[in-house]
Amino acid sequence: MKTMFRVLSGLFIYVFVLFTFSSFNSQSGPSSAKLRTIVIDPGHGGIYTGTANGLISVEKDITLEVSLKLGEAIKAKFPNLKVVYTRTTDATVNNATNLKDDLHGRAQIANQAKGDLFISIHVNSTPQHAGGYYEKRVIGHKKKLVYVGKGSKKHKKWVNAPIYESYWVKNTRIGTETYIWKADRNSFKGDAINQRDEAESGEDVTDSAAVAEEAFDLSSPEARMRAQLYEKKYFDNSALFATLVEESFAASGRQSYGVKQRDKGIQVLQATGMPSVLIEIGFLSNKEEEEYMNSDKGQAEIVENILDALSRYKDEVETGIPAPSPVNLQSDSSTSK
Ligand SMILES: [Zn+2]
Repeated sequence: MKTMFRVLSGLFIYVFVLFTFSSFNSQSGPSSAKLRTIVIDPGHGGIYTGTANGLISVEKDITLEVSLKLGEAIKAKFPNLKVVYTRTTDATVNNATNLKDDLHGRAQIANQAKGDLFISIHVNSTPQHAGGYYEKRVIGHKKKLVYVGKGSKKHKKWVNAPIYESYWVKNTRIGTETYIWKADRNSFKGDAINQRDEAESGEDVTDSAAVAEEAFDLSSPEARMRAQLYEKKYFDNSALFATLVEESFAASGRQSYGVKQRDKGIQVLQATGMPSVLIEIGFLSNKEEEEYMNSDKGQAEIVENILDALSRYKDEVETGIPAPSPVNLQSDSSTSK
């Protein structure tokens, strides 16, 4: 009898997997590939300036300006797409007073909005002085008379002294890079995916606490399997969109460092149950790029680049035509903001 039960339960799981796969591939229900809602996340805000290593601006203001313009451009080109922002003013999300609440608030807004794509806008910088800085170098030596020793032993002595020259070092690091989260066992996106899933089917649910509790239950193998399938799909789509974004930047003449993966500083990408990317639109620490990101022309170009990527992404996921495989995937552990 026990054996029979095992066979039956094994069969059940097999059928379940088949069913899950087929419903997943036929893009029905929550896995529908149709883009409906885009969540735009302007990095930092309020008490969190983001990188301040610039000459004329701080990160939080640029990310907000570019994000709002991006949202307007998306609405103009795709009137059927809904645009949701995590913030529209210079404030932390829900006026959070700590980083954890701020990041959690961003993910919560995205998940409750049932977003289909999460775009976080950020600005990069190097640790060196913004714009540039003076450094010294030795250009020769000269004989110099110095006093050495103490008291009665004090005497003059000729020494070889270096001759220094100050020179200007320009902070030359420029360019864009787009991050996706690291898909591995330690950064399982399942919780967030389930959370979004619950929001999807829970139109009548008003008790959000109850929803959250249920959403985090990944104890059943079915729930885990389902979440893993979504995770794979979301990861692929994140990598695809990130690749298209960097392609568009490169095509318009920007320096592109491609698509990267990082654990630290991108928790918000893991907490969102949808394809999600974090775009570093340029370096604040480079004088010209900072001016570019603050100019109307620069902001319009950046928005145009991301919009172009979104158009191509939308085409590919909605028509089902196989997307080009992501290229230039790099692992990066730098501390850029
Ligand atoms: Zn940032």
